[in-house]
Amino acid sequence: MPSRPTFSADQTALIRSALGGEVPPVCPSCSVPLDSRRIDPRPDVSYVRTRIWLSCSVCRRAVVLDAPDAGADPLRDR
Ligand SMILES: [Zn+2]
Repeated sequence: MPSRPTFSADQTALIRSALGGEVPPVCPSCSVPLDSRRIDPRPDVSYVRTRIWLSCSVCRRAVVLDAPDAGADPLRDR
């Protein structure tokens, strides 16, 4: 199985800063919107937070980031 290319640390930081913003994250390399998929935490592993899997359909790079707290679900944990 060939390994997928990954984003550099700088590119990952760019994507992370765009997460939770008004504009969806785009691929720093291709400037196309990234596909995003929520990864819900497993109920049996309480310390794992909700994460978001982001991938580029053009260059096939992908990264998994923690979901931003702001705006995720304000009613949660209250
Ligand atoms: Zn790309």
